[in-house]
Amino acid sequence: PSPQAHAELLVIGAGPGGYTAAFRAADLGRKVTLIDARPTLGGVCLNIGCIPSKALLHVAKLIGDAAEGAAHGVRFGPPQIDLGAVRDWKDQVVGKLTGGLAGLARRRKVTIVQGMARFTGPHEVEVETPDGSRRIRFDQAIIAAGSSPVRLPFLPDDPRIIDSTGALELKQVPQRLLVLGGGIIGLEMAQVYHALGSRITIAERLDQIIPGADKDIVKPLMSRISARYDAVHLETNMRAVEAGETLTVSFEGKTGNWQAGYDAILVAVGRRLNGARLAAEAAGVTVSDQGFIPVDAQMRSSQPHIFAIGDVVGQPMLAHKATHEAKIAAEVACGHKAGFDPVAIPSVAYTDPEIAWAGLTEAQARTQGRELRVERFPWAASGRALSMGRGEGLTKVLFDPDSSRILGAAITGPNAGELLAEAVLAIEMAADAADLALTIHPHPTLSETLGFTAEAFEGTLTDL
Ligand code: FAD
Repeated sequence: PSPQAHAELLVIGAGPGGYTAAFRAADLGRKVTLIDARPTLGGVCLNIGCIPSKALLHVAKLIGDAAEGAAHGVRFGPPQIDLGAVRDWKDQVVGKLTGGLAGLARRRKVTIVQGMARFTGPHEVEVETPDGSRRIRFDQAIIAAGSSPVRLPFLPDDPRIIDSTGALELKQVPQRLLVLGGGIIGLEMAQVYHALGSRITIAERLDQIIPGADKDIVKPLMSRISARYDAVHLETNMRAVEAGETLTVSFEGKTGNWQAGYDAILVAVGRRLNGARLAAEAAGVTVSDQGFIPVDAQMRSSQPHIFAIGDVVGQPMLAHKATHEAKIAAEVACGHKAGFDPVAIPSVAYTDPEIAWAGLTEAQARTQGRELRVERFPWAASGRALSMGRGEGLTKVLFDPDSSRILGAAITGPNAGELLAEAVLAIEMAADAADLALTIHPHPTLSETLGFTAEAFEGTLTDL
């Protein structure tokens, strides 16, 4: 082993949480070492998550838009897909971003160590690097170890059974793809493979797809995919898989039990936390049975000099939550007063249509027995939505009937994720209906639909 090294601040994991924390602490004057098992920076999000999936969804959008051109009077031929070139495009996007991060780390003199880290005491880790084992001592540490796809133990070991990482590799386009799990990741990848030519079946255990979002917001997506995919099975469990020439899957659902054959299965049933692999207990850090690390609002673990951020501290497992927590942890570690106290963390499914929501959902409000007024603006009444042929969208805002403050918002339709940002700002600033109604939205845009919900609340909505 090489001689011991020392870091004022050690960051484990170089995903959105880890690199943001490392950069912020370096900007505040700390000597930072950033460790990741991967050869490139960026974690799951940049390498095998948010970014490659969006690059492939862009390709799916091109194919989808061309296919729908006929409805608007423009006919294109069938797409000719060069899978290798699609893969290259995605890899190029990822490479630009991860390479960019390496430059940003260099500029800040952040020391990068590639290897798997494991705590050996409250101020020391051992790192398995490609050149052997190394010990690094630290004054403070931030754990940003992220999460990995859940594996189902009863599934056979077969190359046709893949997780999101395998799906993003895009090795081939199976004829019949079963997507197990109707959450965001499963549905995004289903959309990519459908556009590339796969026939898709979705199987979801719960009674709706995208379970965190309100049912009415999910409905337009459900209708669209039900019309395009082979099947969308809700309240359905996979019981077993027999791997022969095809993958024969036994299902158990509302209507009974049945079997069906597929050429590949994408398992997207959730993510497990990487907290358990770190031996964090050796540093005196409490790790829950589920593998997450409990933290306070300053992102401190049970060990005050060790912080944890991002997926490893629990839901929601989203990159933008990780980056915001990262800044708090870095600032507190550097002696600043800061705390993580988010008013609304947005969630977005980048499907077609997109599903985006933030703040309170209607289902949550009802469970809490909270007074509220819900205003919905159907996109069938939006000139811009109709001119895009997408009148099925919906904008919904939850208002407090007394203060008229905005408690939550949800949007479904193309670009819902971009549109939602305005509502997140409104919630963060404790804006009320009048603020939103008096904001002059450009016409004709989809953003007007947010203003219209507030006008409806105020009783000032006029005919369009
Ligand atoms: P991660 O990004 O998971 O990074 C953790 C890093 O730590 C990894 O690189 C890992 O190698 C390293 N590591 C772990 N343990 C050790 C150890 N012991 N030693 C050294 N290194 C270690 N989120 C969004 O907000 N928007 C999206 O559109 C989106 N799309 C997604 C699509 C897919 C297919 C997937 C899988 C996820 C997606 N996510 C998305 C979720 C997002 O990727 C995560 O929330 C985010 O990456 C979490 O960041 P993090 O910093 O907590 O950890």
